[in-house]
Amino acid sequence: MAADDWHRQSAEAVLTQVGSAPSGLTGADAAARLAANGPNRLSVVNATSTLQMLGRQFTSMLVWVLIAAAIVSVVLGQLGDGLAIVAVVILNATIGFFQEYRAERALAALKGMTAPRGTVRRDGRVFSIPAADIVVGDIASLTAGDLVPADARLVSAATLSCNQSALTGESDAVPKASEATEPLETPLAERRNMVFLGTSVVRGTAEAVVVATGMATEFGRIAGLMATTTGSDDTPLQRRLDAFGRVLVWSALGIVALLFGVGLLRGTAPLELLLTSVGLAVAAVPEGLPAVVTVALSMGVMRMARRRALVRRLASVETLGATNVICTDKTGTLTVGAMTVRVMQAGGRRYDVTGEGYGPAGDLRRDGQTLPGPVDALVDLATVLVAGNHARLVENDGVWSAHGDPTEAALLVAAGKAGVEQQRIDRELPTQADFPFDSDRKRSTVVRRASDGTLRAFTNGAPGPLLQQCTQLATAEGIRPLTAEDRARILAETSVLASEALRVLGSARRDLVATTIEGLSADAVERDLVFVGLTGMRDPARAEAKVAVATCRAAGIRVVMITGDHPETASAIARDLGIAGPKDTAVTGVALDAMTDAALQERVAAVAVYARVTAEHKLRIVRAWQATGAVVAMTGDGVNDAPAIKGADIGIAMGGSGTEVARQAADLVITDDNFATIVAAVEEGRGIYDNIRKTLQYLLAGNTGELMLMTAAVVVGLPAPLLPIHLLWINLVTDGLPALCLATDAIDGDVMTRPPRPQDEHLANPRFLSTMGVTGFITAVVAFAVYATALPSVGTAAARSSTFAVLVCAELLRSFGARSPTRALWRLSVWTNLPLVAVVAGSLALQVWSQHSAWLGGFLRVTPLSLQGGAILLMLGAIPLMAMEFLKSLRRHHPRLAVTG
Ligand code: ADP
Ligand code: MG
Repeated sequence: MAADDWHRQSAEAVLTQVGSAPSGLTGADAAARLAANGPNRLSVVNATSTLQMLGRQFTSMLVWVLIAAAIVSVVLGQLGDGLAIVAVVILNATIGFFQEYRAERALAALKGMTAPRGTVRRDGRVFSIPAADIVVGDIASLTAGDLVPADARLVSAATLSCNQSALTGESDAVPKASEATEPLETPLAERRNMVFLGTSVVRGTAEAVVVATGMATEFGRIAGLMATTTGSDDTPLQRRLDAFGRVLVWSALGIVALLFGVGLLRGTAPLELLLTSVGLAVAAVPEGLPAVVTVALSMGVMRMARRRALVRRLASVETLGATNVICTDKTGTLTVGAMTVRVMQAGGRRYDVTGEGYGPAGDLRRDGQTLPGPVDALVDLATVLVAGNHARLVENDGVWSAHGDPTEAALLVAAGKAGVEQQRIDRELPTQADFPFDSDRKRSTVVRRASDGTLRAFTNGAPGPLLQQCTQLATAEGIRPLTAEDRARILAETSVLASEALRVLGSARRDLVATTIEGLSADAVERDLVFVGLTGMRDPARAEAKVAVATCRAAGIRVVMITGDHPETASAIARDLGIAGPKDTAVTGVALDAMTDAALQERVAAVAVYARVTAEHKLRIVRAWQATGAVVAMTGDGVNDAPAIKGADIGIAMGGSGTEVARQAADLVITDDNFATIVAAVEEGRGIYDNIRKTLQYLLAGNTGELMLMTAAVVVGLPAPLLPIHLLWINLVTDGLPALCLATDAIDGDVMTRPPRPQDEHLANPRFLSTMGVTGFITAVVAFAVYATALPSVGTAAARSSTFAVLVCAELLRSFGARSPTRALWRLSVWTNLPLVAVVAGSLALQVWSQHSAWLGGFLRVTPLSLQGGAILLMLGAIPLMAMEFLKSLRRHHPRLAVTG
């Protein structure tokens, strides 16, 4: 089926050729095709195979250093040492493998959750399925905001336009139509009856039969040509750590070479030196490091998913923690998004609407009195509300809910209370065309055919922009031209409603001259309208949003409301939520247009609310904030929001109400569209960063200590205080396991009471380095003291055992303090990290056991210790922890005395 002339054939011919029908494939046929032709994906997304992952555990330079060490040991006759090292290498690889495997699986699951989806008709029914499962012959259903999931020939289309920039570079939307058949040589960009993978639907709706999927699509061909090197998914932090790891290894090797030279000059036996060197190299390198970051990131990301925030790019987790401005939608994000009409205004009078929710209970009142009978002007308004509607009300066991846009559903409810039924309107005035709501036009229109054959347009939308399209006014006395005074009065009435925090819609209608919908556009229909009335609806602020806004304030994060709504409504809700103060006024899109980018940059920090904006303004606001050095998160849901989502440091898409285009442009998808979830994600982002930082510090302080200890011995001319096996054991078991628990530690309660981390701040800031240096140094001093004291009286082997034991104790105890860089040990509840307690207890048990088990004792090369001796070593092991706590308290009480970060 490698035909390339789909555009030359009629839709029917294409349907036959791909073996499909207007009702779609059968489920069984689709499954068979999927199995035969493979998934609809561009190339094999670099899924690491299990074997590769295992192999990767042996690629690090460190492993080769260790293996070399093992060989050296064996050659020197230290068979036991050699085997022990090999055992540790295998253990390391196993732990690394399982950690990475788990992390990879977790991330793959997450990717699945946010993978593109498509809507297809199969067995005559419409389904949303993963785009990867779409096959040739599927009937794809497309609406504005969808990504075209494969190459397809249009079967039907209504006012369809696509953005084909990804394919053709042309950024203007291209109109499409199903009827056309075109000459074979028509260039790709101009094939009007085809839609292509990688493009998106800007306007309209369509059904199209899929003719090519995956690499067989036009987009797939380009992707194939470019042989896309997708690169790795590593985050900046991971890359920096990789580089850092290499520096560590090389400097360790440098120090080893140096000390080797020093040792030789002093006349130490080369064999002895070689063993020490191996130990030094092992001591310098934090074996657990790479696994720790992967684990911290992936576990954090899973935790975020549980809080309904899906991360699409791992790197964004780091940025999230540094976010200091959140630009958010209003409706549905800061508000509940469940609308109730409170006021209807028609024929120059205001009526109050009673009742709650989407059920029919309630009525219309005037001055508190129930209306005696139907009012013509109200019925006229209600008719437009229903006739211009795309939503449905559904009843389930007496519970009414909205199907479709909640704004429009609320209009249906109010119209019902005014006595206008949707079924009747649908029967009497069948729908001919519709132009759904978009946030640039700020209105929606349905064109219907009356019984006399004429076409009528019904439009609902934001009153200000709508009035500009109106030339006449419906009054109790009939239709008359709309005067400037009428306009001013209606706008004033709108402001009154808006200042009551109501969301206001205007309604209008028009009898069209045209008798066929062919070629009608929204622009052509939505003018010369007759203004009919206003509707005011309440959309209460979310209680949790108020809390989240307060959290942001404490966390030094600015919240900015960006809405298409009326400035007064926006300000009223912003004040209610604490986003804006009583004096703050909203900046409107019109005002924005009058501002240069430079002027906006100057003002941006002072503006809390933007109203009546379009998607284009969002991008300007993002840029302006970024120019002031801010790290900006921006929400969006529509097709037009994609540039702002992409331009922001953290692009956030609304998973519930958002379009596929917005979701695929985003770094973060919020599945419940709730502002509080965005704040929760920032909190997690900060927590993950904290965890990585403290884990790193814990590991590196340990290595620093070991390195200092070993160096000191060489410099002083003593035999190595620790054998390679000891160092490996400490790095992998005593440090490695607690490190994993630190990396997945509970988020500190105070993360959201601190200012955001500066984006350019180094992970290893002065506080980090000083803590690392000081604790490492104290650890080395304690261990060296133990060694130097024991050596003359009990001999090398026993002295090493004691040094080993004291280091193990020191590292294990220090892990408790390492949980917070600021908070005192006794303020960290052990209950919030039970795994750490278990790991530390387990490691201590192993240490005790090594005293009693010939096997483990032999493996670890330890000699027996007295109970008393053990107790003393345990107490000495607490010294580094105490030093660290002292440092923390010094910083808490004399912030200026100590180096702060
Ligand atoms: P928001 O930021 O509140 O989501 P929108 O861009 O959705 O703002 O809406 C802006 C204005 O457009 C609303 O105040 C309302 O007047 C009008 N509007 C919103 N939704 C619809 C709809 N479905 N149909 C007609 N008009 C709408
Ligand atoms: Mg909206």
